Amino acid sequence: MSYDSNNIFAKILRDEAPAFKVYETDQALAFMDVMPQVPGHTLVIPKDSAEGLLDVDPIILGGTICAVQTVAEAVKQAFEAPGIMIAQLNGPAAGQTVFHMHFHIMPRFEGLEFKLHARDMEDFAVLEAHAGRIRACLTHA
Ligand code: 5GP
Repeated sequence: MSYDSNNIFAKILRDEAPAFKVYETDQALAFMDVMPQVPGHTLVIPKDSAEGLLDVDPIILGGTICAVQTVAEAVKQAFEAPGIMIAQLNGPAAGQTVFHMHFHIMPRFEGLEFKLHARDMEDFAVLEAHAGRIRACLTHA
């Protein structure tokens, strides 16, 4: 499969589609997942035309994983989460549904169940509030 530059994350990168953004560097962008599996579910994407881990530029991947670390710390603080889960899916057989490489950052709590993957759209006011909480933790980092 070859990279489709009309995928939704490519459009978000080009500001052709909206997103609740929380963090941006030269190499990566972080924003809220619109169908969160847990409150605070955040995505980090590289600024590279890559479908997944196997075709992303390794230098940009390095910058992206640094962004994952920074945003994960802020998500942990913002949601007072005892655990943080990082997920990254490659290919339909692995469950990937958007074919621009991304990391999932998900706050985890004992006993808090996951919602189904990419199923229920969250209220935009909730997403904006959650993005604000994460941005506040990044500002004060
Ligand atoms: P994947 O299945 O590829 O690992 O994850 C794709 C993620 O993107 C899913 O968690 C899904 O909820 C999320 N997603 C799908 N469409 C959009 C969108 O238009 N905007 C945002 N912010 N997230 C999306």
